Amino acid sequence: MKMKTLEPEQIAQWNRTFQDAPTEAILDWAWGQFGRRAAIGTSFQGAGLVMTHIARSRGLDFPVFTVDTGLLFPETLALKKRLEEFFGLEIEALTPELTVEQQAERHGAELWKSQPDDCCWMRKVVPLQKKLETLDVWITGLRREQSDTRSDIEIVELYEFDPVLNRDIVKLNPMARWKREEIWNYLGRHGIPYNPLHDRGYHSIGCWPCTRAVGEGEDERAGRWTGFRKTECGIHTFLEKKKAS
Ligand code: SF4
Repeated sequence: MKMKTLEPEQIAQWNRTFQDAPTEAILDWAWGQFGRRAAIGTSFQGAGLVMTHIARSRGLDFPVFTVDTGLLFPETLALKKRLEEFFGLEIEALTPELTVEQQAERHGAELWKSQPDDCCWMRKVVPLQKKLETLDVWITGLRREQSDTRSDIEIVELYEFDPVLNRDIVKLNPMARWKREEIWNYLGRHGIPYNPLHDRGYHSIGCWPCTRAVGEGEDERAGRWTGFRKTECGIHTFLEKKKAS
């Protein structure tokens, strides 16, 4: 499958096919079509863990990667090791070009307090961009229920990745329909390790300077970038989505 040959109409057709399909069927299809040119990207939120478990249980050997900004909670770093043991795989850590200290020297200390978009760009988006150059399909754990900005995600999406090379990338969201309660039931049923911060009121967990626990009734992602009009780090918004005409 060559990504430059895919048309948005093909994506629309797949979405009709997968409208009510279980995650298992979507992952089976991705493996059959793309093999290891498709990879799971996860920040170890519940949905990513469920999805990885479903894939591994079915013998679908997708590579798994995460973005390690250098500012993750110690609990998150410990969880990565536990998950590698649990799933029996190595989770690739994508890292920024600059260490946190180098970034402070060149761009100012605690950039997340003044320019969080710039900080996210350097520490998250650019490392991901480099990884996506090597893939045809990026599999995510995004869910529609998570926030208003994610409420209309589709199961299969096509993004313009490199207009010069006429290269696109498919983003697959096999967890789009899952509810928070279903995720937690699944994790518990299968004894899957999860981030202990969830038990302390953190629903969506990113870098420690930009994450807080959330209160009853708040959006799952309300605890990210408190004090800023920012709801996404940029990794899910930096590419231009192609739509069927
Ligand atoms: Fe920087 Fe915060 Fe973005 Fe992490 S989440 S990369 S600390 S701005």
